[in-house]
Amino acid sequence: MAFYVLEPAEDLDEAHCSAADYADDWEEAHPWAKWTAQSLREIHCPVDPAHHRQVVREDTDLGVILSVPEGWEREMDFVWTDRGECLVGERVLKLLRRAALQGFSVLPVRARHEEGTAPRLWWLTAIREVAALPSSGIRLLDRCPACGWERYSEAEKGILIDEACAPGADFLRLVGYASLMLVSQRVKSLIVAESLDNCALTPAGVWMP
Ligand SMILES: [Zn+2]
Repeated sequence: MAFYVLEPAEDLDEAHCSAADYADDWEEAHPWAKWTAQSLREIHCPVDPAHHRQVVREDTDLGVILSVPEGWEREMDFVWTDRGECLVGERVLKLLRRAALQGFSVLPVRARHEEGTAPRLWWLTAIREVAALPSSGIRLLDRCPACGWERYSEAEKGILIDEACAPGADFLRLVGYASLMLVSQRVKSLIVAESLDNCALTPAGVWMP
């Protein structure tokens, strides 16, 4: 069964709009979200300051500020954070549950926009994590024993995974690409059938960073 990379639509210039009207209209209708400072946790390395990083806290009480134009209140299907996390609106969550898709979890996000309240959002993540096959070119280059920081090489030949590792899963995370979401053909079919907005799907086998 084929897997697809689910990512922000803006990564594919021509998928959803012409280059001419991309810059202004698309950004305005599909703003990025930002986590509040309280939603992020710092990891400091006792050995190498270059390993300092922020991760999103996975407890309740997450917050996100949507960067949106004044007066914007429309519910959105997919919203992406500036760090690459995938947020979904109520409609998408209902569709995923109704289709009985497997292998995802959601955390409620308290969204507010700069001018007031915003529609309800959920942070969508994949439960299972799989490693890419070595033939993808993705391999561990460096790992810090003190803080767990890791560096991986980039995909050179798409993302190839052993699908037997995750039987029945419709959502997968990939080792080394923390924010990347792999989804099954069933998820793709749902997205296409419901014309869900603001996401792009690329066959994992040809995806390049
Ligand atoms: Zn370190």
